[in-house]
Amino acid sequence: MNGRNIAEQSKSGRASQAEEKAARVVAPRRGEPTPIVASEPQEVQATEYRHNKPVYRLDNTPSETLVIHCSSPRFQKAFRLFVTEELGIEHYTPIMIGGGAHAFGMSMFLPKNLKFLWEQIKFFVKEQKVKQIIIINHRDCQWYEKMKGYHPTVDLPLKGRVDLRTATKSILTDFAGVHIRSFYADVHGDEIVFEEVV
Ligand SMILES: [Zn+2]
Repeated sequence: MNGRNIAEQSKSGRASQAEEKAARVVAPRRGEPTPIVASEPQEVQATEYRHNKPVYRLDNTPSETLVIHCSSPRFQKAFRLFVTEELGIEHYTPIMIGGGAHAFGMSMFLPKNLKFLWEQIKFFVKEQKVKQIIIINHRDCQWYEKMKGYHPTVDLPLKGRVDLRTATKSILTDFAGVHIRSFYADVHGDEIVFEEVV
């Protein structure tokens, strides 16, 4: 066997082992969920180590702003940059929930969703003495898409904006002293632009 054949055999051997491993990982037993394959561990950018374990620090900076927005991973970087850079709010308390303010526009059909969100808002406003609430909805929201059966005749971007106004009115009814601003994140291709909804 020449060197090339050995190399190919070795290469194909590695490939078949990898395929076998992948097949074992991908094919769950009947009735079991597909396992999540962990990615390679990354080097942690922690500044301190204790007993060879990275150490992280609590941030005790008080937060006077609550920011409510959707959990969609496609928008998280944009949401954070918008709040910190464009609005200039470096430190805030985020509430991430599928659909953002959607629950406020669905109180008749899905009261449990609003109850859950409302409990969270009340808790942070009272416990952290929140003075300002920022609410953000966005276009192409999978939660809104999934729930559109409840409001089939209303255009989704319009519904997103209407729900922001409903949320603002509802919160102000109980917390008149809190300043509220709401924004709609519009999408053009892969670009996101935030518009204030008044
Ligand atoms: Zn969304």
